[in-house]
Order: sequence, then C-alpha cells, then structure tokens
Amino acid sequence: MRKKLLFVIGGIILAVGIVLGGIKLYRIQDRNQCGILLAFDDYNADNWAGYFDLFDEYGVKATFFICANEPTDFCYDALERGHEIAFHTAGHQELTALSEEEVYQQAIDPIEVFRDGGIELSTFAYPKGSRNEELDEKLLGHYKVLRGAYFLQITDKHQFKEGYVESLSLDNGNYSSQEQYEAQIDDILANLKAGKGRVVSLYSHAIGAGDWSITEDRLLYLLRKAKEMGLQFYTFQELQNW
Ligand SMILES: [Zn+2]
Repeated sequence: MRKKLLFVIGGIILAVGIVLGGIKLYRIQDRNQCGILLAFDDYNADNWAGYFDLFDEYGVKATFFICANEPTDFCYDALERGHEIAFHTAGHQELTALSEEEVYQQAIDPIEVFRDGGIELSTFAYPKGSRNEELDEKLLGHYKVLRGAYFLQITDKHQFKEGYVESLSLDNGNYSSQEQYEAQIDDILANLKAGKGRVVSLYSHAIGAGDWSITEDRLLYLLRKAKEMGLQFYTFQELQNW
C-alpha cells in the first residue's frame, strides 16, 4: 500500500517537472525568437484592409501608424484581426516646424480622443522622420515608443520596449530593381537569423505601384521568405509588453 502511494507521488512529481521544464523551454525559445515589425504609415484604410486575409495567411500582425482625428471603422477592424493601431499625427505635420501648442494638437491631444474610443495609442512615428531631442522627451511622456523613418536597425527586441527606434522604408522609390530589393531583404533576414531575439522595423505606406508603396510581389517575397526562415511578425505593443 505504502509502495503504491510512493509510486503515485513520484509520478506526480515527475509530471510537474516535465510541465515546468516545458514552460521554461518555451520561454527561452520565445525570448530567442527573431522577427519583424511590419508597419504601414499615413492612412490607406481600404488598401490595407484588402490585405487582412493575406496577413492572416502568413501570420502577420502589422502596425498601422495612422493620421486621423478620431478612431475609424478601420481601426476597430484592424484591432479585431490582432493588428496594432499606432499614431502618426492628426494631419501629417512635420513636428519640428510646429509651435508647442500645435505639437499638442497634432500628436498628443488625440491620445485622449482615441482612449475615449477604447483604443490605447502607445507607439508614434514621426512624419518624414522629422524630430529633435526636445520632441523625443515631450512625446515619451505620452508614448512608450517613437519610431523614425530612415535607417536600418537590427537590434535585440528589448530595445523596442521604450524610447526611440529606427525603421527602414521598403517603398518602391528606394529601389532601382526587384533584384536590389530582394538582395536587401535576403541580407536583413539572414542578419536577423544569425542572432538571438533580434528584430527589425520595416515599413511602407500602401500595397501597390508607385514610389510611396510596396508592390504586392515585393511584400509577398518578404512574407514567404520570413515564413520559410521561421521568423515571426510582431506589433510594437507586443514588444512593449514583453
Ligand atoms: Zn507619413
């Protein structure tokens, strides 16, 4: 009888050990996982929403840095699909050219309006990447992360918890050919995979032709390659809560 009891207790201890070990292993894998923060700026709601199904197919959670005065139907649809709504000023103004009052109107006052609509804005992208130290300081009193617009930065995901981060534009206008685009994507993804817990922030404005968009072909190249290499897509808020 006592032998049987010891056997049962031993079994329970072993089972708990296996579960805890599994959880720990999962956490380490999660921490080491590399990925991409994919974003779209300005406001191209119909265009973006037309790609929601494709995003689902490739497990993409994207961040939409919108210019708007208040929450729109698109915002709620995007949130429901697991994407993030982030902010990019009310009227796409370059903040360095504005008075203090105008900075509040463009970048800070809308936070409350969105909050009243049930949307928490915690990430901000500077229109045209136009910024200075004073603005960073002011905005970081209201946002967790501020995003730039000009540079490639491949970094540990903890760097994305708070403060200023860079982002690379994948707009068609930045590439002279498909080959040049693919070579840069190959390079970036290989660099991500070479480390642990590395992420990169990439963005465009819409999907399609034109200098300020990314063609569907190029977007698909990125999504397929990322999937093939086991890279994950993160929203900015996901990493803020890491
Ligand atoms: Zn913009």
